Amino acid sequence: MPEFLSGFFEGNYAPHGYCLLWRPELIWTHVVSDALIAAAYFSIPVALVTLVRRRPDVTFGKMFWLFALFILSCGFTHVMGIWNLWHGDYAAEAAIKAITAAASVPTAILLWPLLPKALAIPSPTMLQKKNEELAQALAERDKVLEQLRSEVTQRERAEAALVQANKMEAVGQLTGGIAHDFNNLLQAISGNLELIQMAPDNRDKVMRWAGNASQAAERGTRLTGQLLTFSRRQRLEATAVDVSKLLSNMSELLRNSVGPRVDLKVEVAEGLGHVRSDATQLELAILNLAINGRDAMPSGGRLTVSAERGGDEHIEIRIIDEGVGMTPEIAQRALEPFFTTKGPGRGTGLGLSMAYGVARAAGGDLRVDSVAGAGTTITILLPPVSDETDGAAAVAASDKRAVPAKKVDVLLVDDDPEVRQAVADMLRADGHHVRESENGPQALLELERSPPDLMLLDFAMPGMNGAQLAAQALDRKPDLKLLFLTGYADSEAIDQAVDGSAQILKKPVSAGSLAAAIEKLLG
Ligand code: ADP
Ligand code: MG
Repeated sequence: MPEFLSGFFEGNYAPHGYCLLWRPELIWTHVVSDALIAAAYFSIPVALVTLVRRRPDVTFGKMFWLFALFILSCGFTHVMGIWNLWHGDYAAEAAIKAITAAASVPTAILLWPLLPKALAIPSPTMLQKKNEELAQALAERDKVLEQLRSEVTQRERAEAALVQANKMEAVGQLTGGIAHDFNNLLQAISGNLELIQMAPDNRDKVMRWAGNASQAAERGTRLTGQLLTFSRRQRLEATAVDVSKLLSNMSELLRNSVGPRVDLKVEVAEGLGHVRSDATQLELAILNLAINGRDAMPSGGRLTVSAERGGDEHIEIRIIDEGVGMTPEIAQRALEPFFTTKGPGRGTGLGLSMAYGVARAAGGDLRVDSVAGAGTTITILLPPVSDETDGAAAVAASDKRAVPAKKVDVLLVDDDPEVRQAVADMLRADGHHVRESENGPQALLELERSPPDLMLLDFAMPGMNGAQLAAQALDRKPDLKLLFLTGYADSEAIDQAVDGSAQILKKPVSAGSLAAAIEKLLG
């Protein structure tokens, strides 16, 4: 055994009491004190371990274990102190001291770096204060939120007012434009009628003048159609629309609208098929887009209107111009209603949004491709449908003058004497027998006197309107045939009054479509 270790395991050491000369007061003071210290040291680790095990969230848990070991071995050194008063086991005492040292040194070393962290742990008082601060911050945030909410409401109100103002401006522009166009039309109509009155016997000239006047009237019809679309009074008539035919029929209108400076090309493949849309609206949408193209080319250029089957089986109508194009910012907003870059009095900002609405209503979409300075392509994508010609379309299409097969007794009700007389004359020219009433009550009396084959009635009349008259008339004569002639088709009111069984014709009505409608009702 090496010299160094021999001291631990050999030798006969005197017990510690011997050094104390076995003086009882010293011996027992040592014993009692060491026993008390040891007991205290043994109890502390139990408390520490219990704490760490019960509260896993306690920080520095490992440190507590180490500390418990250190205290425990301290306790054993004191037990050894008592033992060695009577025995000389100094090797065992040294070993226990060594273990205590081994536990104490890391405990002491580890304690220092932990100190700042331990100091950073908030005390309950500090936590309480922080909590109060947090509660206050939350209350402040709630206040700011409340304020923000009221600001948003205010802004929404302001925006609504702005939209309303924009609408009013648009309506003003539209009304002004329409009044201007109408004056021109009325000039053409009244001028030609005056010419006829001045030279009624010159048959050739009369025919030409009458032709000019009816052409102007037709233009007026188109115009009011657009107006009614705008005011949403128009009965939306989604039918199967032949795209190729619609576009070919439009080329003259397009040419007139874009003017001579624009080189218009209409490239429409034949037999593209049908889409489900309101023909008038679709026409108006394309017209709007062409006019945008014209506006984008103030000094002229090429405008192409094309239609073809797209790769994904959609029918694609394109309006392509070589004009100023749009910046990304404008392109992004172009579809917004009332968004316009054209000064007041020039743009309404409704063209593109209306076209988009028509495309969506037909189950399709509208795409804007534009580069500033390099022109614009607007694509209307429409899903094709099968050709199902329905009644309304048939009536509108047969505008030709047919000789009526059957002469019938017609009761005509309209409060406007000029309209009434013109329609009555049309009917009489076809050989029908016509009775005229200028209001509902009069018509009901006439009906009582002798029921007609057909009642032709206006919708908007003072007192009893057309729908009310129809309802009362049907009460008396349930199988009475009804044909509405109306300036704007408030179709819901009419449908409600007559269960949708009545026919509706839009004013102005031509003699041809009037005859066709009567034929359809009674034939
Ligand atoms: P408006 O023509 O009355 O301004 P639109 O809805 O038709 O309203 O168009 C909105 C805006 O989009 C226009 O003011 C214009 O700035 C832009 N825009 C539309 N079409 C074109 C186009 N073909 N080329 C360049 N810009 C266009
Ligand atoms: Mg426009």
